[in-house]
Parts: sequence; structure tokens; C-alpha cells
Amino acid sequence: MKRAYNFNAGPSAMPLEVLLEAQEEFLNYQNTGMSIIEMSHRSSEYAALHAETKQLLRELMEIPEDYEIMFIQGGGSTQFLMTAANFHTKKYAAYVNTGVWAKKAMAEGKFYGEVYEAASSADKNHSYIPQEFTLRPDTSYVHLTANNTIYGTEYKDFPKFDVPVICDMSSDILSRKVNVKDFDLIYAGAQKNLGPAGVVIVIAKKSFLATAREELPTMLKYSTFANNDSLYNTPPVFAIYMVNKTLHWIKKQGGVNAIAKNNAAKAKLIYDVIDNSNGFYKGHAAPEARSNMNITFNLATPEMEKDFVAKGKAAGFVGIGGHRLVGGCRASAYNAVPLEACKALAEFMEEYMKENK
Ligand SMILES: *Cc1c(COP(=O)(O)O)cnc(C)c1O
Repeated sequence: MKRAYNFNAGPSAMPLEVLLEAQEEFLNYQNTGMSIIEMSHRSSEYAALHAETKQLLRELMEIPEDYEIMFIQGGGSTQFLMTAANFHTKKYAAYVNTGVWAKKAMAEGKFYGEVYEAASSADKNHSYIPQEFTLRPDTSYVHLTANNTIYGTEYKDFPKFDVPVICDMSSDILSRKVNVKDFDLIYAGAQKNLGPAGVVIVIAKKSFLATAREELPTMLKYSTFANNDSLYNTPPVFAIYMVNKTLHWIKKQGGVNAIAKNNAAKAKLIYDVIDNSNGFYKGHAAPEARSNMNITFNLATPEMEKDFVAKGKAAGFVGIGGHRLVGGCRASAYNAVPLEACKALAEFMEEYMKENK
């Protein structure tokens, strides 16, 4: 079986070993005579899987004991709403506008009070990460987007604030080491780096959770998830099961630091082609803000970009067109994308340049 060179932005490539393992046990999970998706979420088999998934996350991300780990449905987009619903309790909430996802988060924040931009990279089409931030008094929290999937920018060091920090890590969770203690709440949809769509990992400081607004519908309250071990209602069993397998896979690769090293090497292969192309390929992100997850670039004209994507597709490269809102090209090299795929893409880019210069 030939596997595609999968550079999709999300949902995206999964480790082949994880897919094979899931296939192998799909009809008969741990000799129960049924699939994991056919059994009760209150069963002992599922309970063990649920607990182990949390434990693996705690271990791999070094999540301190005073942080809660939750599994929530509704995607990253529902977290835009939930974070504001629970924590926009003062006059203002601050957002760092680093692009589309940040702005969508800010739009949800408005349902619960005033919002403002602590900083913005809009002046240069979100090609950089702002370094200066202005906070107003009476600010509930500041919301950051760790990796800007669409533009290919990523915080290298996270700024410090004296208000709670909420961070969307949907497209770079477990791609590199972060200090969980620097954040009050982290959320990440699974479908970029951790598994299939359907579950969001939420990691929140318990003392921060205690400050949440309580007069909210049940399913919008973090406390519903925190107080019931994310089992108040049926959790997305299959998605959590796949996340569990992916976490085992990350551990087998040597953990987050080994993964990060590999990610840097993968991205470098492609950035090097861009940098050595004499402007044939123009990187979108400022070099100091370059994401190792999403590599964005342009060719001379939109027509040429279309041709590049079409020829790439014919050569087996999937998902290298840019986001529909910004155009250009984008290769997403998430954790599960093998080094060989990046090598092949770098070679293809060299070839294409030679033929079209
Ligand atoms: C994909 C993405 C989202 C949206 O996630 P959904 O699960 O589709 O709602 C939010 N934030 C970032 C940074 C993303 O990359």
C-alpha cells in the first residue's frame, strides 16, 4: 500500500503504527469481543484507557498536579466560547491578534464583555509574532494562539503577563516542550497533532478553575468536566482512544524533546529550500517567527502556485495549497509527518524550481 505524502493542515497525518494498531484491534478490543466504540464509557476497560490517557499527557507534558486535564467536545472553536464564558468576569478580556483563529476567539469573548487587542500582527498580514503588549486595568485574562496554523508563525518564547494566560495550542501541542506552569489554561483540538477530530484536550490550573463564572449551562462549565473526570456525559471515546495511542507513540519516539528535534529538522529541510531559492519561493513568516508545524510560502504568481500545487499532487504530495483565506502554499509537517516526506517535498521543490525558473 502506498501512503500519500500527507501535508494536510488538519485533520492531518497520523503515525502509521497508530493506525495499524487501531485497525488490528478494531473488532476485538482487549479480548472483549467488541470494538472500543461498542462498549460502555463506564466499563472497566474504558476507565483504564481514560485514566492512562490523562497519565500519559501528564507525563509527556510534565503537567503539575495542581492542573486539571479534561476531555471536551466541540473543537477548538467551542473553547473560544467556553474560555470567555467561564473567565471573562471582569471589565475586559485581552487577545493577541495573530490571525484568523485569534480573531475568532476574540469574537466569542465579546459575548461576555468588552474585548481588546493586547497586540496585533495584522499590519503585516500576520507574518510575525508581536513582541510588545499593552494590557488595560481590569482585564480578566490574555488569550494567545501558540501557533498560527494559517500563516505559519509560532511563539518561540511566550511572553509573561500579570493576568491569567489562556493559550490555544491546537496546532502545536506536544510538538515541542512548553512550561505548563506559564499558563492558566491550555486547550488544543486533537486533529492536528494528537488524533482524529472529536476531542479537545484542556489543561487548566485548579486555582484558576475556581475563579470561573458558575451561572452557566451545564455543558459550558469547566467545573462539569473537572468535577466528573470528564465523564459527566459520554466522552468521545474513539477520539480519546486514538489520542492514547498517539501519546504512546510520542513516548516511543523518545518524548517531546526528541519529537521537537525531529520537527525542527523536518521544517529546516523545507525552509532551506525557500532560503536558498533566490526568491523563487518567498517564505510568508518572518524567519524569527517561523513555525515548525506549518510552513507557508508563495511563488511569483497565484497561477504559478496553482501549477505548483497541481504538479505536487500528481507527484503524491497532498495538502500543499495555502488556506482559502490567504492563498499561497503551505506544508503542514505535524509530529506524525515523517522526515522522509519532508525530504521528498524539499526535493520536489528543488526540481520544480529548476524547471520553472
Ligand atoms: C484548527 C484550529 C482551530 C479550530 O479547531 P476546530 O476544532 O476546527 O474548532 C483553532 N485554533 C487553531 C490554532 C487551529 O489551528
